[in-house]
Order: sequence, then structure tokens, then C-alpha cells
Amino acid sequence: MKFVDLGLSPEVLKAVEETGYENPTPIQEKAIPYVLMGRDVLGTAQTGTGKTASFTLPMIDILASGQAKARMPRSLILEPTRELAAQVADNFEVYGKYSKLSMALLIGGMSFADQDSKLDKGVDVLIATPGRLLDHVERGKVLLNGVKTLVIDEADRMMDMGFIPDVERIVSLLPPLRQTLFFSATMSKEMRKLADKFLLNPKEVAV
Ligand code: AMP
Repeated sequence: MKFVDLGLSPEVLKAVEETGYENPTPIQEKAIPYVLMGRDVLGTAQTGTGKTASFTLPMIDILASGQAKARMPRSLILEPTRELAAQVADNFEVYGKYSKLSMALLIGGMSFADQDSKLDKGVDVLIATPGRLLDHVERGKVLLNGVKTLVIDEADRMMDMGFIPDVERIVSLLPPLRQTLFFSATMSKEMRKLADKFLLNPKEVAV
């Protein structure tokens, strides 16, 4: 299968072509069509499989095709570590090069001032670690009630690091009518039970 067969926009396809990727990876082939359809996804995939593009590419198209009048965040990507969040943000910028979207990276260890000024201008997507996102919420800097697509990435690591209560608090602030994508490197009984709390009739993809 080729990238052009997945239903992505010309803007995203052009950005992908410039990265030099020749073909979609298996997780991309399986997940991208479901994400574009608006389905919830339960994905089992490790880092290194091309997982990040499997949710960022279709998410960029969903965002770019929607209205952005008020520039409230419409997508939220949760990552367990600053490094992963920063990598996803780098990828988002590359893939979204032609899609005119704005993004804020909300992670600890960096000043609030830069993140605040980004938020004040209005963003389409937030890429965040749970703790720092909640800091911004408590400071009244972020409203999450416009979020239509949520990604919970590396859920097993979120659990290992004790972040699930924070994730649950964040999810309680989101509209119940939304699309949720849940990824984990492993899919134990415990992970499925957790995923069940967030997903509605998900399509399951695994590599
Ligand atoms: P990830 O699993 O998202 O951490 O991606 C692992 C690496 O694979 C990253 O360096 C990506 O830039 C790269 N990558 C993602 N999709 C493709 C693809 N379709 N073809 C080649 N490399 C890719």
C-alpha cells in the first residue's frame, strides 16, 4: 500500500513525501483510515514502528478540515515524558508544514512564559505531559472543552509512572463526545480495562 491510498490530504502527502518515507508502515496502514473515519482506536504498537505518524498525520487532516475561528485546542496528545512529547511535537511540525496549524508543547522543565504566550495566541493542538497540562488548567490558561480528538500515547508507561489519576482528571474535563486514540506497547488485561474507560467501540490495531 502507498501513502496516497490512505485518504490523506495533498498537504500532508506533500510533507510526507519530503521526509523521504516511501511507504506507510503496518501500523500506519491499519490505523490511519480508522482515525480519518473518526473512529476510536485501541492500538498496540511500540516506539519505532511509525506509531507517531499513524495518529499525527490523520489528526492534522482532521484539524485542517475543521473550523478554527476561536482557536481553542481541538486536539490533545498526552505523552508520559518530556522527551516523547518534544519528539511528537517535532514530528507534528514536519508533517503539518503545509497545513497552517498552531501547536503548543506543554512540558515541565521549561518556563511557563513561553507556553503562556503560545496559549494566549490560541492553538489547534496541545502536546503535553499530564502534570504540566494540569498546572496550566489550574492557572486558568487552558480550556479543554473544545477538544474533539484525544490521544493517550504510551499508556503502559503512563501507568508505570503513576500518571493515570492525572490522565483521568484531564479526561473528565473533555467533552464526552470525542474521538479517542489509545496506544500502548503492550496490551495486558489491565491495559484493556483502562482503555475501556476512555474508548467507545474502538477499532483494534496491532503490529
Ligand atoms: P515512531 O514509532 O513514531 O517513534 O517512529 C520511528 C521512526 O520511524 C521515526 O524516526 C520516524 O521518522 C520514522 N518513520 C515513521 N513513518 C515512517 C515511514 N512510513 N517510513 C519510514 N520511516 C518512518
